[in-house]
Amino acid sequence: MSVIQIMEEDLANKIAAGEVVERTMNVVKELVENSIDAQSTEIKIELVDAGVKEIRVIDNGVGMSKEDAVLSFSRHATSKLKNIDDLFHIHSLGFRGEALPSIAAVSHLTMKTSNQEEGTYIEINGGKLEKVTACDLRQGTDITVSDLFYNTPVRLKYLKNLYTELAHITDYVHKMALSYPAIQFVLKNNGKLLLSTDGSNRLLKVINDIYGLSVTKKMVEIKGENDDYTVSGYISYPELMKSNRNAVTILVNGRFIKNTELLRTIVDCYHTYMPPDKYPIVVLNIEADPILIDVNVHPTKMDIKFSKIDSLKTLLTSLITDQLEHLTLIPDASTSTVMEGNETKISNHYSTPAVDTFNPSEKEQEYASFEKMTFDLEVKEEDAITDRLKEELPFEDEEETPRIKEMYPVGLVHATYIVAENEGGMFLIDQHAANERINYEYYLKEMSRPKKEKMDLLVPITVELPSDEYLILKENFDVLERLGFEFEEFGFNSIVIRTMPIWLQRARQEDAIHKIIDIIIETEDFNSEKFFHYIAATVACKASIKANDYITLDEMRTLLSRLRACKNPFTCPHGRPTIITYSKYELERLFKRAM
Ligand code: ZN
Ligand code: ZN
Repeated sequence: MSVIQIMEEDLANKIAAGEVVERTMNVVKELVENSIDAQSTEIKIELVDAGVKEIRVIDNGVGMSKEDAVLSFSRHATSKLKNIDDLFHIHSLGFRGEALPSIAAVSHLTMKTSNQEEGTYIEINGGKLEKVTACDLRQGTDITVSDLFYNTPVRLKYLKNLYTELAHITDYVHKMALSYPAIQFVLKNNGKLLLSTDGSNRLLKVINDIYGLSVTKKMVEIKGENDDYTVSGYISYPELMKSNRNAVTILVNGRFIKNTELLRTIVDCYHTYMPPDKYPIVVLNIEADPILIDVNVHPTKMDIKFSKIDSLKTLLTSLITDQLEHLTLIPDASTSTVMEGNETKISNHYSTPAVDTFNPSEKEQEYASFEKMTFDLEVKEEDAITDRLKEELPFEDEEETPRIKEMYPVGLVHATYIVAENEGGMFLIDQHAANERINYEYYLKEMSRPKKEKMDLLVPITVELPSDEYLILKENFDVLERLGFEFEEFGFNSIVIRTMPIWLQRARQEDAIHKIIDIIIETEDFNSEKFFHYIAATVACKASIKANDYITLDEMRTLLSRLRACKNPFTCPHGRPTIITYSKYELERLFKRAM
């Protein structure tokens, strides 16, 4: 019986709906997934003009017999799915069996394939089988799709922007390389190398091949499991921010998926570590019994559902926040401009035709020395931790040790940045951001106290609102009371506040009260952590010293020691950094004292 089986009509119909080749990426995806299904360990993708002119995929997989090769271009043929049940499990990559004939129908296609016993050459033009002959080839398949959509009007509509097409393909190949670190991927466009992985089955190495060494150095491993799920992978230091979610890669049983809820959960862990519209770089593999997964949602969109998602969310949150809470997150001044990388990298590769500066062997060496260094470091750190534990062992003290070493202020730059030092190097601290972090943690703590201490205002504050806003506020008077305010309605659209929670006395009170009322009017869920976060962050901003406020050395000292006492001293509540550093080594390097 042939490997390729004629697909059941029922399944064919289910799949046909989502079956359109809209972009060059769809073609690359279909060909690459065929290569993976054929157990390839090397997949080369060569594009001409982002695939619009030509897409060639060469693999070293099992190849096909002549019979299977011809059959693979007939509609409803697939070797990937045997029956409808398979569709609901995630073991197989293939959901579709129709893409290959669809692609052949709108292009010039040639294929060489060999299963070691026989080599076959096939040529198809616009869906018409022109040639089937024997040929020589080492084991594997080599497909070239050219002039995509040459015989349809679609071409103009979808394929206008080569850069967009290339960005889609690159993103897809990145995801596949991360999903299959044991497969060697090579991606080229117009002869330029865009990605080359070594198939050595090391995820961190693939991350390095995609994002470069400066990013790789700022990735940390996470690993853990509960009764339902096992999670492993890498997350970035918060300083590596991206402005889109493309760099969050979630794999389930080695397969790339999309799930908005999990994305949210991951990004939420970085809350206050980075601005809200930014995303970390994350590569996570989730292992789960296929029984917990429902791919029914929309297979071609890679969107899936988990039946015990809360268990998974709890696991992810605890693994990620635990890591973030234990890192020293002071960005290095010399490397903190790293991010927003990839997009520009692609466009550069696309637009500069001449020299290829990519030197694989040099990069390999750099990475190898990094890997060695990390390993040495890990060993040292472990020793240090065990030593410390030995010293500290019966520790009753609940106070956590500060996450940063003491820093000594030496002056103020532009009445905004504190310059400080210690034996490790030089530090620049944004006085507003630092003060904001201190106040933010103070307010959050005070707001969570069950019994709120209150104080009377010397002069009662009247708040007058437009009637629509006043009605919303009136509906939520209890929220204002829960926060610790006492007040009464006054006249038509106003309240008079006579008593306020004691924590507010640090802030510019009138300003802060108006801000709190604004937030109440805009908020929908008053029980969420986000509501308290938002109030605390807003009031903290109002209560903090500003840029251009001159502060004394003594005030700097107090500010720095309070900052050290914070749970997260590294960012303000809006996710901007409070401290950056030049390490001692970096300074020596910059002044050429050390090489
Ligand atoms: Zn602020
Ligand atoms: Zn801020």
